[in-house]
Amino acid sequence: MSCRIGMDVGGTNVVTGLFDSEGRLLRRSKVRTIKLSSCELIQQLAGQCKEILAAEGVRESELEAVGIGLPGFIQSESGVVSSANLPFNDVPVATRLQQLLGVPVAVENDVKMVVYGEYLHGAGKGYSHVLGLTIGTGMASAWVSDGRLHEGAGGLAGEIGHISFPDISYMCGCGMKGCLETVASTAGIARQARDGLKAGWVGLLAERFPPEIRDELTSHDVWQAYLDGDAFAGQVFQRTANWLSRVLVPSIALLSPDVIIVGGGVAAAGDIFFDSLRSYVSASLHPLYRERLRIVPPSLGDDGGLYGSAEFALKSRKIGLRI
Ligand SMILES: [Zn+2]
Repeated sequence: MSCRIGMDVGGTNVVTGLFDSEGRLLRRSKVRTIKLSSCELIQQLAGQCKEILAAEGVRESELEAVGIGLPGFIQSESGVVSSANLPFNDVPVATRLQQLLGVPVAVENDVKMVVYGEYLHGAGKGYSHVLGLTIGTGMASAWVSDGRLHEGAGGLAGEIGHISFPDISYMCGCGMKGCLETVASTAGIARQARDGLKAGWVGLLAERFPPEIRDELTSHDVWQAYLDGDAFAGQVFQRTANWLSRVLVPSIALLSPDVIIVGGGVAAAGDIFFDSLRSYVSASLHPLYRERLRIVPPSLGDDGGLYGSAEFALKSRKIGLRI
């Protein structure tokens, strides 16, 4: 039996999935990310691969390829990674891991891998043109067309979270002011609510978060307050959907996707977010686009990146990259 491994490596957890030759997920593991040095993290990734093979009783010689989704800027041809959330600054992750494991290793941006997984096996299955976004700690997008994941010049396609708007006043971690990601992210939802409370909002959020504990407020608290009937909390999600629509509308006109998959912690807010987003996007599009418009949540839960990276590794191996 041949098999492959897909990994989703974040600042908090390393999730590893072992797949059989038919692409079925056999086993999944999750451990805390070791972030002390690039060497230790690469050793940890190799160790997780060996552990999951042993746990399933699969010989290491049966492993065909390993794919990894990581947050940050990835030069996918060379597998060199620079990431603000991981101890990688121009580190050739693919090459080093390949030396440790003895099989081809493909490395790509984590959002691209999630969207690729959804295209193959999730909410994008059966469609030719799939646009996907993740709005979580950060925000990014990916575009798959006729089976091809679009990289763009320098591999930079999809970084829509760092488009800057003059009416967004927050500084972004990237060094720019007014990036979409500063409001359309889990931290952005909390930030908007904290600033609203400072400006005098009344209601459930104000009662639950008096000034002395206001800094503890999270996006989940905003969502809970909305569910409990707080009008201001609902407005935070509507406003965020409105900002996001400014980027989605031109993207839809430019690419004409069959389906748009929106995932991540903010999208988990559900109808309040999706209904607002559909409404704002529809209002600005030509009827021909509106009739086709499908904006949906992902269907693979947290496993989209595992499916995407495992398949991407196999595809990269077949076309001869990184060998
Ligand atoms: Zn930015």
